[in-house]
Amino acid sequence: MPHYKIAIVGAGPSGYFAAQALQNSVTENLTFEIDMIERLPTPWGLVRSGVAPDHPKIKTVAKVFEKIAAEPGFRLFGNVELGKDISLADLTKKYDAVVMATGSSIGKKLGIPGEDLANSISAADFVPWYNGHPDFKDFKVDLTGKVAVVIGAGNVAMDCGRMLAVNPDELDETDTADHALEALHKSNIRKVFITGRRGAEFAAFTAPELRDLPKLEHTDVYISETAVALAYKNAEANGEIDKHLASNLEAMKAVTETPKKGHERSLEFLFSHTPKEILGKDKVEAIVYSTPEGDVTIPCDLVITGIGYVAESIDGVNFEKGKISNVDGRVEGSNIYAVGWAKRGPSGVIGTNKSDAAEVMQLLISDLKEAKNDGDITNLLKPDHKIVDQAYWVRINDAEVAAGEARGKPRVKAVSIPDLLRLGQP
Ligand code: NAP
Repeated sequence: MPHYKIAIVGAGPSGYFAAQALQNSVTENLTFEIDMIERLPTPWGLVRSGVAPDHPKIKTVAKVFEKIAAEPGFRLFGNVELGKDISLADLTKKYDAVVMATGSSIGKKLGIPGEDLANSISAADFVPWYNGHPDFKDFKVDLTGKVAVVIGAGNVAMDCGRMLAVNPDELDETDTADHALEALHKSNIRKVFITGRRGAEFAAFTAPELRDLPKLEHTDVYISETAVALAYKNAEANGEIDKHLASNLEAMKAVTETPKKGHERSLEFLFSHTPKEILGKDKVEAIVYSTPEGDVTIPCDLVITGIGYVAESIDGVNFEKGKISNVDGRVEGSNIYAVGWAKRGPSGVIGTNKSDAAEVMQLLISDLKEAKNDGDITNLLKPDHKIVDQAYWVRINDAEVAAGEARGKPRVKAVSIPDLLRLGQP
C-alpha cells in the first residue's frame, strides 16, 4: 500500500487545511504521514498573530486545526526554522512532497516621500505587535500624538484603525498582548482616519467587519453620506451591483445613519484619497493626499500603512510578484507545492484556504509516484534540537489559557521564544 510522507512548512490556516485535505483523501490504498514544520513554538499562524483580538469568533477555527493535528499520522515540528535548522533541498529529498504554507509577511511600501519618517509604520509590524508575535515584542509604537491615519481600504487597515480607536477597556477581556494593552491604555490617540485611494465602491473591506462598526461602544464612526451615494451611483453606472458590493454599501450606509454620540474617540473613513507625501521634520507631522478636489493635507502623528503584503524569500524556491512562482500551486520541475498566501498572494479570508488547499492537494496526489523510503526530518535535525511537538504545544496552550482564565481573558500570550519554551517544558 503506498504510504507517502508529506512535509508542510508553516502551521497557519493554509497549512492545516492542506493537511486536512490529505487526511480526507486517505483510502485503503493511499495513506500519508504528515510532518508540519513551524518556525515558532506556536502554531495557528495568522489565527494567533493576525486576527484582531476583539474578533475572538474568527479564532474558533483553531479548534478545527487541533482536530487535524490529533489525527493519526500527523506530527508537529515547532521551533524548527527552514533555512536555518533544515534546508528546503533536504526536505525535498526526504519527503514525497513539500507543501509551502509560508504565507506573506512583509508589508508593501507606498513608495512616496516621507514614508521612512519616524512614526510611519507598517501594519505588518503593528498587527503582530499587538498580537504578541515574538519577533515584534520589542517593536515601539509611539501613541503620544492625537491623530492616526491608516492607509488602505482593506480588512487589515480596518483592524489597525479599530484597535487604535476603541476604548482600551474594551480590549481588557481579549488576548491582546500585555505590552500592547499597556501601551493602548496610555495612548493619546483619539482621532483615527482610514483612507482608501479609490471610491467606496472599490473598498476591499468585507461586510461583516463594516457591520460591526456601529456596535462600537465608545467610538463615533464616520463615513460621509456623499461618498456612499457616489459609490452607489458609480457602481450602478458600471452595471448591476453584485451581492458582495450591495452588502458592503448597505453596511456603509448603516454607518452613515448611526447617530453620533459625541464620544471623544472617532474613526473616520475617507475615500478617493491617494497618498502623495508624508510630511515632517524628524517624525510624521502630516500626510498629503491627492483627491478629486485637489490636494488635501491632514495633520497627524502616526501613519500606518495597510496596503497588502509580499512574501519573504526562501532559499530553494523562486518568487514572483511577492509569491512563490507556481502554476495552480505546483512549483514546476519539483516536488514542491504552494498553498495559501504563499501561492496566491495575500487575499481571501481564512476559509478561502480550505477549498484552495484542497485543489492543490488533489494535484499533489495526482503527481505522486513511487513512495520514498529515506527517513524524515528527524534525520535532518541535530539530536539536541528542541522540537515543539503537539504535546509540547498543548502544554503551552493550556498554560496560556489557564493564565487567561485567572484574568477573565481567553489566554495570556507568552511573547518571547524562551518564555514559550519554558511554558511547555515537560
Ligand atoms: P486587501 O484586502 O487587498 O486591501 C488592500 C488595500 O490597500 C486596498 O484597499 C488597496 O486599494 C489598498 N492599496 C494597495 N496599494 C495601495 C497604494 N499604493 N496606495 C494606497 N492604497 C493601496 O489587503 P489586506 O487588508 O492586507 O487584507 C489581506 C487579506 O486578509 C484580505 O483578503 C482580507 O479580507 C483578509 N483579512 C480578513 C480579515 C477578516 O475577515 N476579519 C481581517 C484581516 C484581513 P486598491 O483596491 O485601490 O488597490
